[in-house]
Amino acid sequence: MNVKLLDLRGQYSKLKEEIRPVIDEVCDNQDFILGARVEKFEKNLATYCGTKHAIGVSSGTDALLCSLMVLGIGPGDEVICPPFTFFATAGCIARTGAKPVFVDIDPQTFNIDPSKIEKAITPNTKAIVPVHLFGQCADMDAINAIAQKHGLKVIEDAAQAIGAKYKGKRACSLGFAGCLSFYPTKNLGAFGDAGAICTDDDEFAEKCRKARVHGSGHTYYHDFVGGMFRLSALQAAVLDIKLRYLESWHEGRRRNAEIYNKAFAGTRIKAPYIAEGNWSVYNQYCVLVDNRDEVKKKLAERGVGSAIYYPLSLHEQKCFEYLGYRKGDFPASEEACTRILALPIYAELTEEEVNYVARTLVEIAGYGTAATQSCWAFGKADTNRQF
Ligand SMILES: *Cc1c(COP(=O)(O)O)cnc(C)c1O
Repeated sequence: MNVKLLDLRGQYSKLKEEIRPVIDEVCDNQDFILGARVEKFEKNLATYCGTKHAIGVSSGTDALLCSLMVLGIGPGDEVICPPFTFFATAGCIARTGAKPVFVDIDPQTFNIDPSKIEKAITPNTKAIVPVHLFGQCADMDAINAIAQKHGLKVIEDAAQAIGAKYKGKRACSLGFAGCLSFYPTKNLGAFGDAGAICTDDDEFAEKCRKARVHGSGHTYYHDFVGGMFRLSALQAAVLDIKLRYLESWHEGRRRNAEIYNKAFAGTRIKAPYIAEGNWSVYNQYCVLVDNRDEVKKKLAERGVGSAIYYPLSLHEQKCFEYLGYRKGDFPASEEACTRILALPIYAELTEEEVNYVARTLVEIAGYGTAATQSCWAFGKADTNRQF
């Protein structure tokens, strides 16, 4: 059996009849940038996320960059983020001229460890960018409490977590603002690049709307220097249709995760740990295994696609050498990089396919020798496994 890590063709074939006419309509109108389609989608998106505003932008990366720019973050400032994330989180901080300051992750959730944040705060710290990695929200109560105490802004990197709930509230409604990506592999995927910023703050929202068109309120009059972060009408049209199905896709991913969780219980495969109060949307279902690279190869030989998010912690990236971090500085992040493996989880997988992946992985990596047993001595007490 062949099971790809992600195959979006099934999703599209179900929606084709609905999506094609809307694409035609945009083409017939030749109205490609911003406009009514984008506004309609923004309204529906804000309602979905439980925020007052949603501002459509060109990508998740640009959502982060635009937010940081609008907050006035720049040279001399420091912004805290985890080192175990997609590059954009720290890359955007660096692009403003500010310094990314890494804080290690909780080895169980892979999200920033709030207990380590305060030690990283200096008089130059301006903001915290927690990442809701793989579809599970970071520990936002603890993060917000620290931010409030030190007068910092919290920008959620919710690129992988649209719809995820933390204590009943959706990602993007938990901090000062939230950034979304609609890159095709995200739970809500566009037909190209797209993103959004969500916030309750009127002034920030207004400024983001200007920032996405080069800081301009009226065409060719510029109040400040922004960027070119516009959302295309074609993407908004597609996203607006897909948004109606998003909850059912989350449910499909969660159903598949349940099958995996059951299959991996009592084996040496460490299933994702979902912290209390969290409702994950499983953008990725990532397990920890020993001999990860070997396991990945063996899975591929048996037709199972998998991927490594992420193979190298950001503090060890060449481009961040100037920050002066060293190997060993963030042990939880480094350990995750060596052992993590993402499995197929998308909603359209059949139960048979999910069972095949589960069975195959258990056969390959579920039972090991005493020599590798010590690998389980990893971070905190492991409450997610039953022996
Ligand atoms: C995908 C992603 C981004 C960037 O989104 P793009 O739309 O690809 O620019 C940022 N942060 C995280 C955590 C992501 O997964």
